[in-house]
Amino acid sequence: MKLGFIGLGVMGAPMAGHLAKAGHEVTVYNRTRSKADAWVAQHGGRPAATPREAAAGAQIVFSCVGNDDDLRQVTIGAEGAFHGMARGSVFVDHTTASAAVAVELETAGAARGIACLDAPVSGGQSGAEQGILTVMAGGDPGAFELAQPVIAHYARAVTLMGPSGSGQKTKMVNQICVAGVVEGLAEGLAFALHAGLDAKKVLGVISKGAATSWQMENRGETMVDGKFDFGFAVDLMRKDLRIAMEEARANGAELPATALIDQFYAKLQKQGHGRMDTSSLMKLLSER
Ligand code: NAP
Repeated sequence: MKLGFIGLGVMGAPMAGHLAKAGHEVTVYNRTRSKADAWVAQHGGRPAATPREAAAGAQIVFSCVGNDDDLRQVTIGAEGAFHGMARGSVFVDHTTASAAVAVELETAGAARGIACLDAPVSGGQSGAEQGILTVMAGGDPGAFELAQPVIAHYARAVTLMGPSGSGQKTKMVNQICVAGVVEGLAEGLAFALHAGLDAKKVLGVISKGAATSWQMENRGETMVDGKFDFGFAVDLMRKDLRIAMEEARANGAELPATALIDQFYAKLQKQGHGRMDTSSLMKLLSER
């Protein structure tokens, strides 16, 4: 297929790479042009000067940028992708953004005959590189049917959750759960250290029981070692928790623990640790 891809960051670059590897004709746009040129040198395809140019003639256009405003800029902004997309084409957004912006883009797309899917991902940089992301989508079932086998080049699970915004809302659930699990793990490990236990031995035992989690299995030992450079950054987590808390204000859900953990992440940012990964809650605890 003829595809466009906008945003070749930590996540977007490997995702677009899987599309090229699968034999699709991919035109890429990246705000910092050098990244697009480097990507083309590695994967083939074509670099574009604007999102609009990357989208021209594409059957599906993908994006993976930072936040709501970045997303608006590359779609409905001047030289945005929507200005270049043909009627009947599909826009798939992998940014973690608000459900409101997903609905806003769906409406803007519909006026141009473009179907939109909000399709945030879980699985991090390694999941993108290995092509094993989890994708949670919202939007039109017909558009999903067209995009699903293409997304499957970099995902092991691609699920339509409901109408526009449902993918983003599912991602919010994911981030709420991750925040709680990481704080619980950090508190447990800090307690183990204070109690004079061998924290790694504790992990070895309790990871076989009811307390186990992906975070415990993949981050437990590095948290004990004080290593916090394993991917998803505190800065990005704060963006995601803000989005989730705004949604909760609108739908009436209560997020008391999430709000508290968000403040712990704010403290890490104030200490200059915004680029550390989310398991750095442990660092903060050992200093409390
Ligand atoms: P990243 O490495 O910072 O990449 C962001 C990309 O978006 C870059 O290509 C950047 O261009 C582009 N961009 C940002 N603002 C833009 C704008 N206004 N106009 C045009 N391009 C713009 O971030 P990432 O880690 O790939 O994350 C991308 C999205 O995936 C985020 O929403 C994040 O929350 C989500 N996510 C990330 C992870 C993870 O582990 N990293 C996991 C799941 C979900 P430049 O190159 O010019 O900066």
